[in-house]
Amino acid sequence: TPTPVTVTVTGAAGQISYALLFRLAAGGVYGKDTPVRLRLLEVPSQTGAAEGVAMELEDCAFPTLASIDITDDPAVAFDGAGAAVLVGARPRGPGMERADLLTANGAIFRDQGRAINDHAAEDVRVLVVGNPANTNAYIAHRHAPDVPAERFTALMRLDHNRALSQLAARLDAPVGELDRVVVWGNHSATQFPDVSYLTRGGAPVTDGLDRQWLEDDFIPRVARRGSEIIEVRGSSSAASAAGASIVHMRDWVRGTPEGSWATVALPSRGEYGTVPGVVTGLPCRSDGGEWQVVEGLEIDDFQRARIDASVAELVSERDAVHGLGLV
Ligand code: NDP
Repeated sequence: TPTPVTVTVTGAAGQISYALLFRLAAGGVYGKDTPVRLRLLEVPSQTGAAEGVAMELEDCAFPTLASIDITDDPAVAFDGAGAAVLVGARPRGPGMERADLLTANGAIFRDQGRAINDHAAEDVRVLVVGNPANTNAYIAHRHAPDVPAERFTALMRLDHNRALSQLAARLDAPVGELDRVVVWGNHSATQFPDVSYLTRGGAPVTDGLDRQWLEDDFIPRVARRGSEIIEVRGSSSAASAAGASIVHMRDWVRGTPEGSWATVALPSRGEYGTVPGVVTGLPCRSDGGEWQVVEGLEIDDFQRARIDASVAELVSERDAVHGLGLV
């Protein structure tokens, strides 16, 4: 039997984790033949609730679930981790300023970055889901100097999937026929969901996506979908965020389908005029267990302005965390 993989999930008692853990345990990332050892990290007040989730996981009798451990200690949680999904983050409370939020999360992701650096497996793959995800990933990465930068990613696959589903509706196309969208920049209202390279059944899509629809409907709808879900559902998206996290990790580990792309936020090397170091959404393929940024795409003036605006926001978040002494 193959060696089990240790997967650490933080914020394990929260609502995203409640959808995520069952799919992880069922083999959704590593497949049906690789046992998974789950390590659940929670704050001390929530370890009891995490125990309850662990009981339900046991009751599913997943053949791929080798073990579950619960802890409030990052050093224990990340010990030997081959994958780490960082879901737990401090939500913005009443009266909290942006600096307070960055400070609270900065401390969490600094400590987790250090623990990953010191205790995780050499080939650890990190996915940050907790918001502000891109900047939290930046902080963790900057505190893990021994881990290659591209091992730190933030979730933009949900934005990517939201874009695909909006396009499928607009084009009256099965979503599975569409490919090559990308969401540049920050997982925030400034994000730029981009259809410039969209294909349907492998062929470029030229009709049905006029500039006015893109600017007035598509881009804001995708960027504000999280708020729309909160208004309609009465609480924030959870199963869709968990599902996007699963396919992000699955594609990273097992590869993207031939010719296909995913959007991944990872530390920029300056690709497409983005600012090196900031964790920005980029079009990526995975092959052999590594993300590779898709090269050679043409960028026009409209795209340039949108990409630059979202990257500028990432730069200001980066500068704020440096100003607060968090990096
Ligand atoms: P959720 O599970 O709903 O959300 C967790 C994080 O994911 C939030 O930061 C949330 O951002 C973010 N997120 C990213 N993308 C999305 C998306 N598309 N839709 C919704 N959320 C998204 O939060 P809960 O409050 O239910 O659970 C959080 C848990 O984390 C709690 O149990 C808490 O105790 C724990 N925690 C653990 C820590 C640790 O392990 N060290 C540290 C801090 C918290 P947003 O807030 O913007 O919605």
